[in-house]
Amino acid sequence: MTSLERALTAINLGIPDRVPVDLHNFCVAAEMMGGSYKDIFTDGKKIAQSQILAWEEFRHDVLLVEVGTTTTAEAVGCKVQYRGHDAPVVTEPLLDNLKDVDKLKVPDPYRSGIQMREMLKAVRILRDKLADKVFIMGRADQGPFVLAAQLRGYDNFLMDLAERRNIKLIHKLLDFCCQVIIRYVLALIEAGAHGSSIGDSAAGPDVVSPAIYKEFAFPYERKLIQKLKDKNVIMATHICGNVDSIIEEMVATGSKIIEIDHKTDLKKAKKAARNKTCLLGPIDTERLRRGTPDEIDKLCRKAIEIAAPGGGFILGPGCAMAGDTPLENIHALVDSARKYGVYR
Ligand SMILES: [Zn+2]
Repeated sequence: MTSLERALTAINLGIPDRVPVDLHNFCVAAEMMGGSYKDIFTDGKKIAQSQILAWEEFRHDVLLVEVGTTTTAEAVGCKVQYRGHDAPVVTEPLLDNLKDVDKLKVPDPYRSGIQMREMLKAVRILRDKLADKVFIMGRADQGPFVLAAQLRGYDNFLMDLAERRNIKLIHKLLDFCCQVIIRYVLALIEAGAHGSSIGDSAAGPDVVSPAIYKEFAFPYERKLIQKLKDKNVIMATHICGNVDSIIEEMVATGSKIIEIDHKTDLKKAKKAARNKTCLLGPIDTERLRRGTPDEIDKLCRKAIEIAAPGGGFILGPGCAMAGDTPLENIHALVDSARKYGVYR
């Protein structure tokens, strides 16, 4: 099987020759390129080159192409600060007043925001070079809840949710965020990505209550994913931290892939996902950064034992790896799928 066939088989809940591997590695790839992250993340050619460099080193099955968590926010108009050896951050929200949501415009991905434009360029380059070999996941950045929080400012947004004085405007903002993401996903697919993904981590139980997730995040994630499903787009959803209390809803969004980290009960997640969605993860990025290859090998073996049976599993880090993650630990992760993940 090629990496692409292997990944597609797992995503479609079949049993491939072995467990496929994804690397959530844009910072590691940037380190391998050398130079400032800003130079790389604002240049599609360099984003693609860094991904290719990492693929030549690790030969993983799924390329997760992204530049962090600020691409959609930047395109809508938020100020973004680029940092030396870390992912960029939003420094200024856009909406001092929730009422201003009426003034927001869905950005044209080909014309708005440096990151968005350059990401599309990167995906086109990767398509030309690797699309027949590996699965290219063009990450559409943040989910509706997180994008809304970025546009409004996290503190303001959480206050809005607690006060419940402007529920209509909150829903209007979330609906706008859905439109932004759908537009960007479709552009990524047009550019040649095999699938796309969103991260909605601030909607997870580590940040807000499951009740908030169910009222303000889940309906929009589901709507977005269903709309894209109608256009045959493969979507992945990621939420950091322990998602035990919302895993059933995450599956119910209809997402083809759910990306979870080590804090979530993998057995419970496997049970919830069985015959419904492909699981991706869950290796602890902190252990990948600080541990030894032997430790990573053991963690991966355990994860494969729990999540691989019956197919529908992609092994990978549970979140984005830090740029200084030792390459030998990443090799240990990739190798473990070949050692322990073969289906007989
Ligand atoms: Zn994460």
